[in-house]
Amino acid sequence: MNADEIMEVESAHTSGLYGKQPIIFVRGLGASLFDINDVEYIDCNSGHGVANLGHAHPKVAAAIALQSTRLITLFETFYNDQRATLMKIMGPLVPGLPRVFFCNSGTESVEAAIKFARISTGRPGIVATMRAFHGRTYGALSATYNKKYREGFEPLVPGYSHIPYNNVEALEKAIDENTAAFIVEAVQGEGGVYTIDAEYIQVARRVCDEKGALLILDEVQSGFGRTGRMFAFQHFGITPDLLCCAKSIAGGLPMGAVLIGARVQNLGPGVHGSTFGGNPLSCAAAAAALTAIIEEDLPKQAEEKGKYFADKIRQINSPLIREVRGMGLMIGIELKQKVMPTLRALQERHILALNAGLTVIRLLPPLVITYDQIDRVVAELEIVLNQSPESEK
Ligand SMILES: *Cc1c(COP(=O)(O)O)cnc(C)c1O
Repeated sequence: MNADEIMEVESAHTSGLYGKQPIIFVRGLGASLFDINDVEYIDCNSGHGVANLGHAHPKVAAAIALQSTRLITLFETFYNDQRATLMKIMGPLVPGLPRVFFCNSGTESVEAAIKFARISTGRPGIVATMRAFHGRTYGALSATYNKKYREGFEPLVPGYSHIPYNNVEALEKAIDENTAAFIVEAVQGEGGVYTIDAEYIQVARRVCDEKGALLILDEVQSGFGRTGRMFAFQHFGITPDLLCCAKSIAGGLPMGAVLIGARVQNLGPGVHGSTFGGNPLSCAAAAAALTAIIEEDLPKQAEEKGKYFADKIRQINSPLIREVRGMGLMIGIELKQKVMPTLRALQERHILALNAGLTVIRLLPPLVITYDQIDRVVAELEIVLNQSPESEK
């Protein structure tokens, strides 16, 4: 199909759920994406934080190719070499969370964690935070805060409440004998790139312990090196009871996981499950991806490159920037105006970036992005943030 045909067919048959951009990407390499005319773009989206290892990582590609010729599907009632290999790699990454439930996406990992918390504690209450994003299926959507995702889908799941993020007092009040779990992101991505305070997460750990509630951390976006540690919570010296992962876990293949601590009980056969969960193909991809993340020390790369990147952005002289914040290679640039025109202008200059709400530019580049590429992104940002304000498109 030529470019016109591709866009025509997709436009005719798309669900309509996505605001489409008029670019056709056909391949990627490292932190670059190439369109159908082989024009290169620097990818600071990573598919919303999926491509931590960059695109077309040779070790992930080789693992997928090989495993696809051996065994793609196997229900978790049977043992499998690839699944065991993956579990063995994951074990030491997060001491204190020795068990794992595999699923296929971020929202599924949140669904599972919430079900585990309720079955484990026998309590209904789920406390979440304002600005939170946890996914779009009903259990996860009920924990998500923004009206934009919730409106029109009520009634949502009962038993949920939302408290202000990083507010210790509200937290201490909200968690009680009815609370099954407190669910929180270590860095709110979708919500505007807000980092959790060390004190807040430590108090959350203590209050959950005191009240017999479980602490669920959603690291679907912040996990696997992005913030400068394998997981963002490792900056703060605590361990959650349930850790939700997905996005970059399998080098781009769909996969989710919940890591499970000792206090989580009552997970017997049949309590929960997933047809595709823990399939050998995704496990082989994840084993290769995690091995590469460890070998290439991507957490350290994210820490160093993130500091370099954010410092350079802070040096940009533009009246439009209100604040630069984030952790590692999860960077938010809050503007004094709406960001969509800026993102479109960047895209025209072959830089892909995301929004986080109306006024925040969110940069989630592959952790393998080069310093040259970072410099290029900063140079284009500087140009775009100094153009005369464009009319809203
Ligand atoms: C993306 C995301 C989800 C949902 O993941 P899906 O794979 O899209 O279902 C949940 N929580 C956080 C923090 C996310 O960034």
